[in-house]
Amino acid sequence: MNTKLLINGELIETKEKQAVVNPSTQEVIAEVSVATEKETALALDSCRQAFNGGPWRTFSLKDRKGYILKIAHGILDSAQELAQLESLNTGKPIKEATFMDIPSAAKTFEHFADALESYLVSCDLALSSAAGKAQSSLVREPHGVAVLIVPWNYPLLIASWKMAQALAAGNTVILKPSSLTPLTALKLAQIIRDAGFPQGAVNVLNGPGAAVGEMLCRDRRVDMISFTGSNDVGKQIIGYSSGCVKKMIMELGGKSAGIVLNDADLESAVNGSLCSIFLNQGQMCTAMSRLLVQDKIYDVFLKEFVSKAKRIVLGDGLDFETQMGPLICNAHRQRVLDYVKKAQTQGARLLCGGSVPADGRLRKGFFFEPTVLGEVTGGMQVFREEIFGPVACVTKFSTVEEAIALANGTEFGLAACIWTRDAASARYAASALDAGTVWVNTYGMFYNEVPYGGFKQSGFGKELGREGFLEYTRLKNVLFDAAVDAKPIVNYWYGF
Ligand code: NAD
Repeated sequence: MNTKLLINGELIETKEKQAVVNPSTQEVIAEVSVATEKETALALDSCRQAFNGGPWRTFSLKDRKGYILKIAHGILDSAQELAQLESLNTGKPIKEATFMDIPSAAKTFEHFADALESYLVSCDLALSSAAGKAQSSLVREPHGVAVLIVPWNYPLLIASWKMAQALAAGNTVILKPSSLTPLTALKLAQIIRDAGFPQGAVNVLNGPGAAVGEMLCRDRRVDMISFTGSNDVGKQIIGYSSGCVKKMIMELGGKSAGIVLNDADLESAVNGSLCSIFLNQGQMCTAMSRLLVQDKIYDVFLKEFVSKAKRIVLGDGLDFETQMGPLICNAHRQRVLDYVKKAQTQGARLLCGGSVPADGRLRKGFFFEPTVLGEVTGGMQVFREEIFGPVACVTKFSTVEEAIALANGTEFGLAACIWTRDAASARYAASALDAGTVWVNTYGMFYNEVPYGGFKQSGFGKELGREGFLEYTRLKNVLFDAAVDAKPIVNYWYGF
């Protein structure tokens, strides 16, 4: 296990250390290096020089692609170790880490390595006016130094999204993982060091957000910040930019709604909705923590949904039989518990779960039962605020218009699902829903080719796809005037 930071091409051990805890058992699994102001400044200098002096941005696109593919191969070569580290550190079921997080991370590097030449193609425009003819070349360039700040729920995957795009675009990068979950980012650092990247092109700094993260975001050597995390921290980072203008991508929280219409295929709506709120212990920005179910199907849907939620197998993340692991830490579990209690005092009906499990096997971890709250209404706190845990809030509605008004009735706009057999209803709802992604009869499908990102308080900017990739570039207009006889007006305005 690598516990060192990556700065200026070297793995560096710091004096300051931090314990990393397994949320399934509360055992300390590692003591990792923590960046202080000194290491943060070193990384900033190194990353800036690596951008200004090259060779990362001056490599041919073919060479750039080759290096990025080395990361993909490194991830695949260490896939088992990475899956174990991710599961140990986050508590997520190893089945999820093995079949989703780790291969998807490798695929993202592969995709952007393969696509970068076609995504970076410049566009030439022929321009003509009374003053003459000109040619404009629109060129995509990297921003420069990109700071990538990621949360604890998908530590390797979200880091890989950002890093693959930023590097493919030619930026040099500093990755800052959440200090709760640094292990796979540090392993990634080792893979990158072993791949022989140019000094300073990639730096990985573990450290507290309020110190290292803030210093990175305020620094003038940084040109771009790509942040995924909570709304509160996102707003703080936007605030820092009042002193130093930077390009930003903000992927923030959500309060997404899954809408189940009367004509939905019951089996796929129930199973898909279970996945949409209980996968990764509900700690997903796109979790459908609100299920809006139409009146005629409400009782039968809820009966099936609750009976299946009760059968979800809780256990140690490392056990292949585990379907749901623990929450990330005790403070977070308490927050989720408080939301459930508050909802009950506000009139919601607890249909299952709602507590710390009594099972002695789970006593040491931060486990929380899969929870379903019925009769949730629009005015309740659990309906409007992000819980980020395994809590489904179910609301009954009569018309599609009512469902859309309910779904849109929060500050967030990250994602939505609609379950129906009627294509016209699906199209109507999709266009009326205020969400950056709308899944129809499915949930959580991400593709490297397709942009993803939220509206409203869920942030701005896209990740993935051509549009997401282009966020990591700046657009330059190079204008050539080839006029010979008809001189452009600026060339003789004062020149008579
Ligand atoms: P968080 O905002 O607490 O932390 C995210 C990252 O920001 C961490 O690396 C943290 O160390 C850093 N940070 C904290 N304070 C900082 C500061 N002042 N300056 C700079 N960096 C700072 O979020 P979290 O608890 O790690 O993750 C959960 C949140 O992330 C949820 O709100 C969830 O919705 C959101 N999330 C969003 C998406 C998305 O794509 N929209 C994806 C995953 C998670």
